[in-house]
Amino acid sequence: MDFALSDSQRTLRKTIMSFAREQIAPGASERDATGVWDQELWDSIGKLGVLGIPIPEKYGGLGADAVTTMVALEALGEGGMDTGLCVSIGAHMVLVEVPLWLFGTDSQKQHYLPRLCSGSQIGAFALTEPEAGSDAASLRTSMRQEAEHFVLNGAKTFITNAPRADVLIAFATRDRKLGAEGISSFVVEKGTPGFRVGRTLAKMGNHSTPTGEVFFDDCIVAKTAMLGGDGRGFTDVAATAMVWERAILFAGVLGVLQGTMQMVLEYASQRRQFNRRIADFQMVKSKLADMSVQIHAARLLSYHAAWCLDQGAMANFYASVSKLFTTETAIGVLQNAMEIYGGYGYMKDYPIERIYREMAITPVGGGTSSIHRLIIAHQLLEDFRAGAD
Ligand SMILES: Cc1cc2nc3c(=O)[nH]c(=O)nc-3n(C[C@H](O)[C@H](O)[C@H](O)COP(=O)(O)OP(=O)(O)OC[C@H]3O[C@@H](n4cnc5c(N)ncnc54)[C@H](O)[C@@H]3O)c2cc1C
Repeated sequence: MDFALSDSQRTLRKTIMSFAREQIAPGASERDATGVWDQELWDSIGKLGVLGIPIPEKYGGLGADAVTTMVALEALGEGGMDTGLCVSIGAHMVLVEVPLWLFGTDSQKQHYLPRLCSGSQIGAFALTEPEAGSDAASLRTSMRQEAEHFVLNGAKTFITNAPRADVLIAFATRDRKLGAEGISSFVVEKGTPGFRVGRTLAKMGNHSTPTGEVFFDDCIVAKTAMLGGDGRGFTDVAATAMVWERAILFAGVLGVLQGTMQMVLEYASQRRQFNRRIADFQMVKSKLADMSVQIHAARLLSYHAAWCLDQGAMANFYASVSKLFTTETAIGVLQNAMEIYGGYGYMKDYPIERIYREMAITPVGGGTSSIHRLIIAHQLLEDFRAGAD
């Protein structure tokens, strides 16, 4: 077992960290305050090659494995300290590019992937509906097949990047009675007749990632827009995308947590009370130690989940384990950080307040903690019963 990064992974991490420190971090507070999408920044991240890291070079990506993709996204989070931007990039990459790469036809891959990898087009993944969140397979958006095309009708909500997206992967059912097996997925482009972007939703945090609604009103999509085969939209396309999401997307969160740790060490070493640095108090030290151990454990679980994706082994189970632990850790780490900063942590003059708000949603997006506990326990019991048989 080798925990060391390779030379090329180290170089990638260094390059992305220094880019993120120079280009992303300085504007993070302002993007939070204004909620304005920074297209120039997105374009420069595209130029750096980060957006297409796991996608094969022939489609405009870097052809990296999942572990290396994790290294890159973690560096982006740690250097940039902007969780929202990491979410936008993660959704674009693991929820749109990856399913297109793994399930797309040659022409879909050739058409969409180079644009997505360069960042000239932005992707979104439209699964969740107002009445179908955790129970995503109960979705109501319908698909009707006609001679030359499909007709989609329905509404999606909470869709990351929707307000800016050029390309969406949208999920619709032929017949709700068929459950997950009735669901197909489609690549829908902005401007398609009957496709409409709704409100940009006002959120508690992560203002640098736009989240919105989309509507399909007799939306006509070509037969060639189907992704992954009839009835395979949920069982193959969404299921795979969600494993990648759980294993990889939260790498940015991990990076932000590590950056937070550095900020807290610095603050605790400077702030004085009772004539001493607060870092000298044992109870502050205890918090620092807990934060560090939690982050380290989350990193190990996350890298292991990414490694499982590369090996094609038990990725579903370990992606849930790592998502659950990393996001719940994020809340605990930020709570400790806030306490160490004292009242200043609650003020907008310091970044802890913003990062806390950004982290608050992480145990919900990408499947709630309860759903991941269910997935983990279900697998454990299934394995146990299989072993007992
Ligand atoms: C900022 C943000 C970005 C998002 N981006 C996207 C995106 O890009 N694409 C997309 O498709 N979706 C996206 N989502 C949707 C996200 O995946 C859902 O919010 C999430 O899956 C939970 O669904 P819900 O919000 O409808 O909550 P609900 O499913 O209504 O859950 C409410 C509560 O009930 C609990 N619960 C539900 N079912 C069970 C059960 N069986 N057992 C125990 N407890 C249960 C949940 O754990 C939760 O505590 C995003 C959400 C947010 C907030």
